[in-house]
Amino acid sequence: MGQRRMGIDLGGTKIAAGIVNENLQIEADMQVPTGLPREPEDLADEIFRLAFKLLESRNLSMTDLGSVGIGIPGTVNQERESVEYANNFGFDDVPFVRMLRERFPCPVYAENDAKAAAWAEYLTGSGRGSTSMVAVTLGTGVGGGIILDGKILNGINSAAGELGHMVIRKNGRRCTCGRRGCLEAYASALALVRAAKRAVKSEKSPDSLLNQLCAGKPETINGKMIFEAVREKDVLAGAVLNRYLDDLAEGIANIINIIQPEVVCIGGGLSGAGEDLLLPLRKRVEPMIYSRSSEKNARLVTAELGNAAGIIGAAELYRL
Ligand SMILES: [Zn+2]
Repeated sequence: MGQRRMGIDLGGTKIAAGIVNENLQIEADMQVPTGLPREPEDLADEIFRLAFKLLESRNLSMTDLGSVGIGIPGTVNQERESVEYANNFGFDDVPFVRMLRERFPCPVYAENDAKAAAWAEYLTGSGRGSTSMVAVTLGTGVGGGIILDGKILNGINSAAGELGHMVIRKNGRRCTCGRRGCLEAYASALALVRAAKRAVKSEKSPDSLLNQLCAGKPETINGKMIFEAVREKDVLAGAVLNRYLDDLAEGIANIINIIQPEVVCIGGGLSGAGEDLLLPLRKRVEPMIYSRSSEKNARLVTAELGNAAGIIGAAELYRL
């Protein structure tokens, strides 16, 4: 019997835990609501209880685990065993990793959640077999993870790889980080949906397919509806998506020109659009690549693991 690891994906709305086997597959998983706002000690207790319950459900105990890993939506300072900044949680330099280590009898590893998910894609998803990969996650924001030569790039203060906060437009839209014109303000899934809502609301002719798909209620528009309308050649949705892809391509071309990774993996909800997203994106990115004469170019792909990436990546942090 191989060694099992536990991965925990700590999110703003739910905590998901999974037992991961030596083939990097989730054997069993369980989740509970995060229940924010919550004191860090109380949250650490909840995570331990969830891990215990999950093991119990499989007739396992803590001694069956080689390690526990956790992905946290914030900046994890490895040396100080702390979470420096986690917006949703109100954490500001909280020794949260130490709190977890005090509770679990096995080694506990922690990393930023986007980086943990990138690690999973690198090990067993769309980046497997490569030596370098950059993951770009399109969600409420734009998350990132840079993996070079088998290591997650952390930088001197653990905050490297914040791809969403590269400025693509000086004096552009205000970003949540305080700067203006960040990629995140233009290329998050949220930004796409917002742009579509605005377009439908200001549309003079009500016969756009997007307007029909949302039954005249622009507030209900989601990424799926936008791609569906584009597939049916809806002009309005096409224009919105084109503008979005132009901005996303700027960011991705910048990433490729700086890092030259083997793989660029696009994750998050929008990655479900697959080739509908990748084909027009590649068309835009390719002319912007500095080394276009080279035969070896970064492969632009979508993430394969979906939500499982958070758990698997966290469970495999012990490899770093
Ligand atoms: Zn920003």
